Amino acid sequence: MATDIPHFIGGQRVPGRSGRTAPVYNPATGEVTGQVPLASAGEVAEAAAAARAAFPGWAGTAPLRRARILNRFLALLERDAGRIAASITAEHGKVLSDAHGELTRGMEVVEFATGAPNLLKGEITENVGTRVDSHALRQPLGVVAGITPFNFPAMVPMWMFPVALACGNCFILKPSERDPSASLILAELLQEAGLPDGVFQVVHGDKGAVDAILESPDIAAVSFVGSTPIARYVYQTAAQHGKRCQALGGAKNHMIVMPDADMDQAVDALMGAAYGSAGERCMAISVAVPVGERTADAMMERLAPRVRALKIGPGTDPDAEMGPLVTRQHLDRVRGYIDAGEREGAQLVVDGRGFRMQGYEDGFFIGGTLFDRVTPGMAIHKDEIFGPVLLVARAQSYDEAARMVNEHEFGNGTSIFTRDGDAAREFAHQIQVGMVGINVPIPVPMAFHSFGGWKASLFGDHHMHGPEGVRFYTKLKTITSRWPTGIRAGAEFVMPTMS
Ligand code: NAD
Repeated sequence: MATDIPHFIGGQRVPGRSGRTAPVYNPATGEVTGQVPLASAGEVAEAAAAARAAFPGWAGTAPLRRARILNRFLALLERDAGRIAASITAEHGKVLSDAHGELTRGMEVVEFATGAPNLLKGEITENVGTRVDSHALRQPLGVVAGITPFNFPAMVPMWMFPVALACGNCFILKPSERDPSASLILAELLQEAGLPDGVFQVVHGDKGAVDAILESPDIAAVSFVGSTPIARYVYQTAAQHGKRCQALGGAKNHMIVMPDADMDQAVDALMGAAYGSAGERCMAISVAVPVGERTADAMMERLAPRVRALKIGPGTDPDAEMGPLVTRQHLDRVRGYIDAGEREGAQLVVDGRGFRMQGYEDGFFIGGTLFDRVTPGMAIHKDEIFGPVLLVARAQSYDEAARMVNEHEFGNGTSIFTRDGDAAREFAHQIQVGMVGINVPIPVPMAFHSFGGWKASLFGDHHMHGPEGVRFYTKLKTITSRWPTGIRAGAEFVMPTMS
């Protein structure tokens, strides 16, 4: 039976009142399991008002006390990890072990944020002038919002809100309408950890809710993660409304395989990075670029049988390596790209379109797919497919491979597999991509570093979490002070200098 999913506003579960809803599916069975409300501008305004009311108290709470609440939240996440992972798998479709993995990566950001007192330490300079001191401190922005994609319903919100809350902001989360339930569990655990009502809220919705957030005079900043066209729109609209914005977009991540690479290691890496989470990861490797025909042939020989042997199943099957796609609409889109690749003349080595999951015939399953001899300019190379479709684009030299990466519209992640330190260093130094792996296929930075791509993969100036997250969620104030000393300099009409 489909349940009605509530918002979480002012510390309570609140049913939607807009009259608009969207179905939530179990991707493994194709069944509708819930109805998510799509908030009206009025409902967004209600959450913003509750957040605004909570802000002075939260901003005035000592950072150490804020950190203690986050510490309790961390313990509750550990306690309820099974429930959260099950909810992710039920609505997203990814295998349970992967759902646990995303939760763990999110919890690492909470661990980082528990260092709030240290993260918020300011700077001081004594005697910038005679008996004059300066100090700089970081203060919260106010009410901030996060708009997140379907592919990491727990981790991506957790890239944002632990840091925002640690810095003293109130946070409104607008999660993906396709898998909205994990965010409600997070809201209730924050409340159980002692977070005051109104400091963290969840408002569900689609474009209407997003536009209301972007236009709200009560919201100071917006963090967005999703596809590039929407990221660009969110960034531009937020800027028009005077908001600070970081908007992370789509990706097309290439992995260069050099002739000297350990080929078994490279193929293992490609399997996990291309087909894990059915390719629905912004850091998935979607293009393998072997350098030289011999490297390419050796790679294909090992890769094709592995792709044919992928274990596909519902996310609850402990043996499954890959689950279904998120919706039927997305399944049709991915199939459409495989059709296009064939038409464009790429060589379809493994075709996942015919895959049927026995006992789950209405689920959104597709088999692993592998194309060889893909060239730049083909739509399958240009666009983000976001499915279990790996492209092999052969390059005749390292320079040709690097050019392929650099000339691509996206610049999220990339990787090189080689035993040559010199080549690896050159690659890391020169490549026009924000996150680089050397013999590491998915170089997702840890919580105490910052996550973000370049080019059309990020609009804005700040990456997420780590030191960049603290900078994004705070504004800098610099105070120059002189205390009465009995010395009178008289009125000064020229620019103050040290002379
Ligand atoms: P999406 O762009 O469709 O949706 C993202 C968010 O925007 C959702 O909350 C959605 O409700 C909202 N939205 C959708 N259409 C909108 C519109 N017209 N106007 C305003 N808001 C709108 O993305 P998705 O399909 O949920 O997620 C997959 C995408 O996210 C992929 O492109 C993937 O690469 C990207 N992603 C990027 C990163 C990164 O770090 N760069 C991380 C995860 C996912």
